[in-house]
Amino acid sequence: MNIEVLISEEKLQERIQEIASEIEKDYQGEDVVFCSVLKGAIFFTVDLMKKYKGDALIDFIRVSSYEGENSTGKITLKIPLQKEHIEGKNIILVEDIVDTGRTFNYLVDYVKDLNPKSVKTCVLLDKKARRIEHFEADYVGFSIDDLFVIGYGLDYDEKYRNLPYVGYVKKN
Ligand code: 5GP
Repeated sequence: MNIEVLISEEKLQERIQEIASEIEKDYQGEDVVFCSVLKGAIFFTVDLMKKYKGDALIDFIRVSSYEGENSTGKITLKIPLQKEHIEGKNIILVEDIVDTGRTFNYLVDYVKDLNPKSVKTCVLLDKKARRIEHFEADYVGFSIDDLFVIGYGLDYDEKYRNLPYVGYVKKN
């Protein structure tokens, strides 16, 4: 595949540092739980947590909503959260990308049902042009054009997650 770099490793890390500092300011000494949406958000979550200086916990949730390049629109919960890890806590849902908005809306509703103290959303990449459901994340890394992106956690049929940058497939 002919892969073009869209966001370099350096730009990703710079922006993630800014987001970590923004979150630190917003929570001012309160514990937060970074709730990473598997599998795509793990690289982002780990880098964000390493840069975050406050007290933070990590948890994971897994949903599936996407096959190949086309969203099926149907969301299935594959790995749930445990209520005792969420109840009364400040939750920050961390996602790799928001596209139609369906996954994030589903996740926010799901987390709210577990009685957290608060819920915020943090996404590395925002593809606004493809939104079907209204959704605005509290923290956004980069707004991107309508491209199918891979790397830094994002896959194409489970491959390419290990690229240290965000790229896209150049069609000839
Ligand atoms: P939404 O529910 O917002 O349509 O989709 C969110 C999910 O779709 C993301 O978590 C991600 O798994 C997948 N997705 C959306 N756009 C892309 C993309 O450009 N590349 C990859 N690899 N996955 C995408």
